[in-house]
Amino acid sequence: MGRFRSALVRWFAGAGRNLPWRHTRDPYAILVSEIMLQQTQAATVTAFFRDWMTRFPDVHSLAAAPEREVMRHWQGLGYYARARNLHRAARIVVDRHHGVFPQDPEQIRTLPGVGRYTAGAVASFAFDLPEPAVDTNIARVLARIAWIEEPVFTAAGSKKLWSLAARAASKNPRKTNSALMELGALVCLPRSPRCGECPVRGYCGAFERGAPEALPIAKPRPKTVHLVEHCAWTQRGGRILLSPGHGTRWRGLWRLPRLECPPENTAPALALTYPITHHRVRLEVFRKRLKTSAVEGGCWFDLATLHTVPMPSPHRRAVVGMV
Ligand code: SF4
Repeated sequence: MGRFRSALVRWFAGAGRNLPWRHTRDPYAILVSEIMLQQTQAATVTAFFRDWMTRFPDVHSLAAAPEREVMRHWQGLGYYARARNLHRAARIVVDRHHGVFPQDPEQIRTLPGVGRYTAGAVASFAFDLPEPAVDTNIARVLARIAWIEEPVFTAAGSKKLWSLAARAASKNPRKTNSALMELGALVCLPRSPRCGECPVRGYCGAFERGAPEALPIAKPRPKTVHLVEHCAWTQRGGRILLSPGHGTRWRGLWRLPRLECPPENTAPALALTYPITHHRVRLEVFRKRLKTSAVEGGCWFDLATLHTVPMPSPHRRAVVGMV
């Protein structure tokens, strides 16, 4: 393990990407980056992270911000429950921990939206604590290295992975966890891993067996489900009618009002598609003069200042396409 770790960390020092959250030990900034990275690739997160840290540079500024402002700055990242959780987490750190971010991984884990992986990542990256952090990249790397044939989503597979990750992170945890993640992101790819340039191929069970792609055994992906969503475009002069979003997905955002049925014999004025988890949604927008009272919680917004209103990306794209 010692030699494996050294080879890995040495490689990371030369090949690791220059990502902004790698230059900080601030647990709040690291939590922000980890929550953003939960569903979004590093290349996309980089710009959002910089903007976010400019607007909400510390836990106090985020805790004090109104929800509308928080949601507006999350626009474009999607999966808005993450922004609401981050906001609540900041308020908990301020209210219960007097603004001092907890170091104990068990306490970090009690924050909204923080699971075992995120707690381990924050504890190791910010405080250099010997905490494992197994995300999909690390799970893939370790399953291949140690030839763990149990499916990674089962209790037995997960137990083996976490225990191996704990051994790896028992020394130099900050760099070891970062290096494992980076190896999964750059070299030990899901398909066509680049074993020829891998710094730890001499320790790898999958490479030795000549079957790097055989593992990990992951959960089968659910089939893509196609959905259609019908919405109304109601405009009066320079204003449009929007309705408040509901549920965990779009609460706190404003969207085009939903139509139960599309108008008969009318083609949509605009259609676009967007993905959400394993769904592919076709959003169709129809020009329709709805009364304000027909839209629950409906409000009129000036088109000229709509950029200040938090909206889900597909609906903002629809607005841009309609005006
Ligand atoms: Fe992954 Fe290949 Fe490196 Fe093994 S040798 S860790 S399979 S890239």
